[in-house]
Amino acid sequence: MAPALVLRGGQVWDGLSSGPRPADVVCEDGLVRELVAPGTARTGREDLAVDVDGCAVLPGLVDAHVHLVWDGSTDPVAHVAEDGEQLTTVRAAEYARRYLPAGITTVRDLGGNWDVAITVARAVDRGHLDGPTIVAAGQTVIMTGGHDPFWGVPCDGPDAVVRGVRGQVAKGAGVIKTAATGGVYGQAHGEEVGASELTYEELAALAGEAHRRGRRVAAHALGEDGVRNAVRAGIDTIEHGVFLAEDVVADMVRQGTVLCPTVEVYRRMAGGAAPGYAVQKAREVVQAHRRSVAMAVAAGVPVIAGTDAGAPGMAHPSLVDEITALQDYGLSPLQALRAATSAAADALGLPATGRIRPGSPADLLLVDGDPFSDPALLRRPWGVVRRAQLRRN
Ligand SMILES: [Zn+2]
Repeated sequence: MAPALVLRGGQVWDGLSSGPRPADVVCEDGLVRELVAPGTARTGREDLAVDVDGCAVLPGLVDAHVHLVWDGSTDPVAHVAEDGEQLTTVRAAEYARRYLPAGITTVRDLGGNWDVAITVARAVDRGHLDGPTIVAAGQTVIMTGGHDPFWGVPCDGPDAVVRGVRGQVAKGAGVIKTAATGGVYGQAHGEEVGASELTYEELAALAGEAHRRGRRVAAHALGEDGVRNAVRAGIDTIEHGVFLAEDVVADMVRQGTVLCPTVEVYRRMAGGAAPGYAVQKAREVVQAHRRSVAMAVAAGVPVIAGTDAGAPGMAHPSLVDEITALQDYGLSPLQALRAATSAAADALGLPATGRIRPGSPADLLLVDGDPFSDPALLRRPWGVVRRAQLRRN
């Protein structure tokens, strides 16, 4: 058995409960083995015991919405076109590498050209790259001419979307991404935020096939009708959810549909971080977005933290900005931290991740102080544990 890592005397928050409690955490073979009363963990001669007195010990964070092919500049689509597949893959690997030192140990990549993110995810799995666990969609399943056509597989009609899902699964997608409405950034012409794209019938066929293949589905959905189509079709996570109606929110609560609102990226774009056409559209949606998030939180919809990192204004990584913005939109510090740990992991289908308990991955974030009262501390981790190995920053 490999030597254990013992973190002694920290304030441990398990990813779920209402606050931290003092405990020693014993990690071994990549997993959390046990939590014991402070000062009582026994260590063998080979084990590494580290005093983390005064530190908060949290589960490694989860960013549920990133695009590793994008660079967070004003117009990342143009840069991908300029770089081509090979340079874009190198860039994506470099962005992935930045996540672990920030304490972000799991990300979900919701779309990219040439299935680059699936390749990067594989590189991490095989040990070629020191990055977070990546659940990657690869290309997206969209209607002809739909949202983000540059990385979409155009599919029209229920049979075609089923083929689209199967194609992505065959290439190694860990999640299926689709578009139920238009968006703010991506195409300068011909795309409206409120316009529905894949129909209810297409989305239902897509979700059914993805679930039969053991994959969850994330739908880009801003406009009210498209969000309603996606929720009723059994989509697992609604990305953005800018215009939510009360009946849709009630359905989300009943079905456990998750909202990944990505609030900060719209504020950045509205502030001028995107091309002019997108700045204009972002300004038109920010207030509605705030109301929708408040409505969802009040009703009890599960909300998770995703940044859209790589999109205009959102560098890799940007998760602490989203955690802070979610608090500004009405989540409590506890709700915002759950959104970036256990709730996000559940939405990714990783029920052991995002918490600290026996058997969970030993992916941990150590911060000097109390992140519940000061989330800015998350920007400066004291250390990060990845698969039971401690890295000091
Ligand atoms: Zn996105």
